[in-house]
Amino acid sequence: MTADQSTLSRELSGLGSAAAVLEAYSESVMNTFGPPKRVFVRGEACYLWDADGRRYLDLLSGLAVNVLGHAHPTVLAAVTGQIATLGHVSNFFATPAQVALAARLSSMTGADDAKIFFTNSGTEANEAAFKITRMTGRSTIISTEGAFHGRSMGALALTHNPKYRAPFEPLPSEVIFVPYGDIEALASVVDQTVAAVVLEPIQGENGVVLPPEGYLAKAREICDQQGALLWMDEVQTGMGRCGSWLVHVDEGITADIVTVAKGLGNGFPVGACIAIGPASRLLGPGSHGSTFGGNPVAAVAGLAVIAVIERDGLLDHATALGDHLTKAILQLDHRLITGVRGRGLLQAVILAEPIAAAVVDAALAAGFVINAPRPDVLRLAPPLIISSAELDSFFSVLPSLLDKAAEEAS
Ligand SMILES: *Cc1c(COP(=O)(O)O)cnc(C)c1O
Repeated sequence: MTADQSTLSRELSGLGSAAAVLEAYSESVMNTFGPPKRVFVRGEACYLWDADGRRYLDLLSGLAVNVLGHAHPTVLAAVTGQIATLGHVSNFFATPAQVALAARLSSMTGADDAKIFFTNSGTEANEAAFKITRMTGRSTIISTEGAFHGRSMGALALTHNPKYRAPFEPLPSEVIFVPYGDIEALASVVDQTVAAVVLEPIQGENGVVLPPEGYLAKAREICDQQGALLWMDEVQTGMGRCGSWLVHVDEGITADIVTVAKGLGNGFPVGACIAIGPASRLLGPGSHGSTFGGNPVAAVAGLAVIAVIERDGLLDHATALGDHLTKAILQLDHRLITGVRGRGLLQAVILAEPIAAAVVDAALAAGFVINAPRPDVLRLAPPLIISSAELDSFFSVLPSLLDKAAEEAS
């Protein structure tokens, strides 16, 4: 161990217990997320370990991020190899890694004229997309009820939840919200003043809400008729999560703008705004920027993730396990489960009662990480490398978790 490493380890050793970390957290970290439920110290494949040495099956993947689970050897080798070679150079310069990732992401869109702007998060990818829409000369954007596009002022302007928005108004304006999945409502507001329609192919934060079949294709037609850009926010759904690189491409649609992030770096912060055709030429020198965006370490993380998903057939695996999950949950035939919805390994269990938060706590106590995007919805977004046996270990305890949560609520 070098002198620098031992200084760092001394700093961390004072934080050896969960209680010490949580106390330091409440003293020194802003209270934007509420009190943390656990302190995690290690991860490997689909498992996490807390500060007390307890093991958890990770069925959330850091919010649809760790598509390859934790400490994946290929990502680890790519990131450590790159940071030992060249960690960062600024966007005055190009790196092979950045260009290679841009080419991979471009090809995922199904178009041959896509271009990339790299970011560090999904919010920033959407921020770049928002700026592209302003360059059309039109300013109205159509978003949807229940939509989540991030928390920066621009992304928040497109996010529907009044609880997130109200304290920060005025937000960038001329955003119209229409009911998600309602094609007539969309058609009624898109005219020649509309710059763009922004849609999640599946609303993740709203509780894994799927639009009716053909909705995205109809949205494409409406945008074409009125000269508006179709912007697909695939930050949560993309990168294999739903069994395809991009859900809308899987449905045969070409967008004008696509945003991705979460799964792209397997936990290394990286996002991208992908623009296609004329939309890819709207931002010019000086119109946008990012110090870190597309740095070579982030870029190799993305390249490693894509390579492993391809090598290990994880798109098909995600689809197969999504089907397995749906069947297994419905087979439980539990009185508190009214349905399962989702695609690939982005799935929601719909509950008959608003007890999801209590189920999440009961699951943690039993060694499973899940989350509750709505009071009556459990979200499951496990690593794409998960096995059916690992999933089954959760289904075998789920009935007792539901019963326990319902009992507490009554
Ligand atoms: C998570 C999410 C975002 C925001 O991404 P961050 O990386 O948290 O900034 C944007 N859009 C969708 C659909 C998301 O799920």
